[in-house]
Amino acid sequence: MWIATSLFKAPRNDGIKMSVSDNLASLRIKISKATQVAGRTASDVRLVAVSKKQPMDKIHAALAAGQRVFGENRVQEAQEHWTEIKSSGACADLRLHLIGPLQTNKAKDAVALFDVIETLDREKLARKLGEEIRAQGKALPCFIQVNTGAEPQKAGIAPSALDDFLDFCRAECGLNITGLMCIPPLEEPAALHFAFLKKLAGRFKLPHLSMGMSGDFEKAIALGATHIRIGTALFGVRHEC
Ligand SMILES: *Cc1c(COP(=O)(O)O)cnc(C)c1O
Repeated sequence: MWIATSLFKAPRNDGIKMSVSDNLASLRIKISKATQVAGRTASDVRLVAVSKKQPMDKIHAALAAGQRVFGENRVQEAQEHWTEIKSSGACADLRLHLIGPLQTNKAKDAVALFDVIETLDREKLARKLGEEIRAQGKALPCFIQVNTGAEPQKAGIAPSALDDFLDFCRAECGLNITGLMCIPPLEEPAALHFAFLKKLAGRFKLPHLSMGMSGDFEKAIALGATHIRIGTALFGVRHEC
């Protein structure tokens, strides 16, 4: 009996000993199962590999294993990680997502480097991004970050202000808004926030939902995530320096 059950288990993720490619294989199985259980197809969910504070050898290992979508939360660090790889042309289908706060004075560099901005969270930034996207002639979809927990210290648009902000981004700034993103409060059940974000996206007919991280991505998939942002479960513990 034990043979039968262990045969059908995904490789166990023991952290340190597992390689990036093992972790990726294990994540792909988990994502596929979660989508199946939710009655969705695996191709509906994009794994955004969060490579912030990770060494280059692990980034190259993920690329070698076929991963092509990556998330970074700081523009300068993202340039250090990706400028050379991008300009080498070796990974034409590489997609970089900005998942951290963006200062307006970095908007130009961010537009040049990234393929999706997930953290649009205020009018001043929307204006600046609109200008830069026009100047650089680049199609750059943006997600609006929603502060679903109404936390005063956290970035994001208040849910009640989303309607007006969406209009502003589209009509005044010419932005292509395709989704919503949230980071739930640590001390609350994430599922409540995922369900809320899904409802908001439905109300405004936005197709993309970026929610769920290493600890809760399966829940997020069950509740409609199209983009899950996974760092430690893929690359291991980050080097905080
Ligand atoms: C770092 C980060 C992640 C990844 O978190 P893990 O728990 O390591 O998967 C996801 N989203 C955002 C916005 C982050 O800053």
